[in-house]
Amino acid sequence: MFIDVIIAVAVVLVVAALMGLLLAVADKFLYVAVDERVEKVTEMLPNANCGGCGYPGCAGLAEALVEGKVKKVSTCRPSKPEARQAIKDYLASTPGPDGNTVNVDL
Ligand code: SF4
Repeated sequence: MFIDVIIAVAVVLVVAALMGLLLAVADKFLYVAVDERVEKVTEMLPNANCGGCGYPGCAGLAEALVEGKVKKVSTCRPSKPEARQAIKDYLASTPGPDGNTVNVDL
């Protein structure tokens, strides 16, 4: 009976160690570089997540702006002019991981 408990604990420990190793390997080889500008621009948008811009949420438009797929901040109609200007200035002055900035129109 006692040996069964020891075997069960040993099996759990081995499985946990293997899962930890698997996660460590996955973290190293499946790492995706995140452009922090997307999160910042998302914060600057209204965060109404209304979908009026054609994206399912504000994060989608933020990503499109950062990637240069959308050139006008006014694609987000609920955004205020000050926020649009702030996003434009932020993208023009903050380089991404590749060292390039993004120029967008209001
Ligand atoms: S239109 Fe503006 S508020 Fe609505 S989801 Fe798009 S970015 Fe967000």
